[in-house]
Formats: sequence, C-alpha cells, structure tokens
Amino acid sequence: LAQLFRPLDLLGMVYRTIRQGLIDMEAMYKLIDTQTEVADAPDAPALHVTAGEVRFDQVHFGYDPEREILHGISFTVPAGHTLAIVGPSGAGKSTIARILFRFYDIQSGRVTIDGQDIGAVTQQSLRAAIGIVPQDMVLFNDTVGYNIAYGREGASKAEIEAAARAAQIHDFIMGLPQGYDTRVGERGLKLSGGEKQRVAIARTLLKDPPVLVLDEATSALDSRTETEIQDVLRSIARKRTTLIVAHRLSTVVDADEIIVLDQGRIVERGRHADLVRADGLYAAMWARQAAEREEVEPEPKIEDVF
Ligand code: ATP
Repeated sequence: LAQLFRPLDLLGMVYRTIRQGLIDMEAMYKLIDTQTEVADAPDAPALHVTAGEVRFDQVHFGYDPEREILHGISFTVPAGHTLAIVGPSGAGKSTIARILFRFYDIQSGRVTIDGQDIGAVTQQSLRAAIGIVPQDMVLFNDTVGYNIAYGREGASKAEIEAAARAAQIHDFIMGLPQGYDTRVGERGLKLSGGEKQRVAIARTLLKDPPVLVLDEATSALDSRTETEIQDVLRSIARKRTTLIVAHRLSTVVDADEIIVLDQGRIVERGRHADLVRADGLYAAMWARQAAEREEVEPEPKIEDVF
C-alpha cells in the first residue's frame, strides 16, 4: 500500500511546489527557469544600471504568435520618473510589466534599460534591477520575517525591521503573537489585503531596486488603508524609475506621463490635466470613476463635519 501512495505523495509534493512557486512572480520564475523559452544568450553580460531609463521601442508581442496583443508600443521613462499605464481590462497593461521583467520575449522591437537590450543581458541581473509590488501577493508559508527578507538574501534583522517600518507594517508585526517569527500564509496567520501589500512593499524596499513596477490592486482596500498605502508607494517611487499598472485613476494624477492603452495600442498619452482636457477615453474613464467614488463616498453630512 505504501508503494501505491508514494507516487501520490510525490504528486502532492510537486503540486505544492508548483503552488508555492506560483505564489510570487519572481519565485515562479525561479522554479520554471529551466523550462521557459526565455534563455540567456551565450556569454550574455550583466545589466549595468547607471541611471535607470526604461524604453520600449515599437514593441510587438503576443503570447501566441498568431494573436498579437501589443501592436507597436513605444514609450520612454526617464530615470527617476513615473509612468502610469491605464486602460480597459484586457488592454495589455500587465503584459507590459511581464515583458519588462522578461517573462516572455517579444516578437519585434526593443526594450532597453539604460540603452541595454533586456533580451541581451542575463535574466538574473535584469530581475535584480527590478522590484515588483504585485496586485495580490500570496505569501510564502513561512514567517512574516522570511517573507520580507526574501527581498534580499542575507539581510540583517535590523535591515528587515527598517524596511518594515518604512512600509508601515512594523508595529502591526510587533503586535503579532511571535512578532517577526509569526507564521503567515495559507497555513499560518491570514493577513488582510492591505497587510500583504505592505509586506510586499517592505520586501521591495529591502531589495532597493532602481526600477519599480507597481501592479495596483484591483480589489478595493478600504479607503483609509488605501490612502496610507499610496503614501508609502509614493515615497518609494520617488527617485526610482517607476511603472504603475493602474486600475484606479486616482493614483496616477501625479504621474509624469500617463499612457492610455486600448486593445494593445497607445491611444492617448500625456499628463492627467492634459488628458482630461483632451476629452477622450481617459476623460471618460475619469468621469466614470469620479461618479463611482461619489456613489460609495457620499458628501459628508453637516452633522459629520461639526
Ligand atoms: P486587467 O486590467 O484586466 O488586468 P490588462 O490590461 O492588464 O487587464 P493583460 O493581462 O495584459 O491585460 O492581458 C492582455 C491580453 O492578453 C488579454 O486579451 C488576455 O486575455 C491576454 N493574456 C494575458 N495573459 C495571457 C497568457 N498568459 N496567455 C495568453 N493570453 C494572455
């Protein structure tokens, strides 16, 4: 009987390993590294980030070559600037982030960081340069400290705590039964969406990458948590080249440039005020979201104010 179960055990283990791997984009990549089509060129040099300029030049891409998703995307994010990518669901926003991280190779065009083609440098050096705060991070089944420390191998306790403090999660962690040693994740303490996002932010702060990708949560956090998280994100985006995949337009108002994507094409670009004035797709999305905001958050009543 034991022999019968052994393969099942193995299957279970493989399943768990895969699940664990899917937990985090970076971790997932490590797991399937050897099986993907994305490969380092022989003798590929390491990416050498000097300033952190990100450029997409006429990028064409489809997950399936028969079905192109991005039809010639071009933009430049100067070092330290913030680019927001907005657009309807399925427009290709997250695909741009995945391409920058080189989960996939593009069909044509060029993606560069400080002038170096990301397809020509080692994947390891590319991924070391980019920090991702994903929309919904699933935590490792390990301690909260481990989940933060994953940002940088060999980080000291003091560094982990400093990152947690900056992400405004330190006090919460200190209040947990075993502090940083408290187990979290599916088999441990369940954290809320906002808490998980703060852990992701702390991890990214520890990694301290020159390029940052923020994949904004689609699921609504309560408005106070959201404002607090946005403040933290704004401070970590400062001085770093940042790409925000934005679902709520309220977060992109300050971006240096906004690109509006529709069905894999940039249909509008500019700053918030310019786009509202242009009265196109962005203005329509903005008006719709403003109306929704008013619906959920009615004007305060006089008695609430006084
Ligand atoms: P949302 O706002 O809903 O997250 P998005 O703008 O980020 O949408 P993408 O996730 O980039 O959109 O998807 C763009 C298109 O690519 C969609 O048509 C989607 O179905 C397709 N797509 C996304 N991921 C894959 C994949 N792994 N394999 C095949 N097609 C995919």
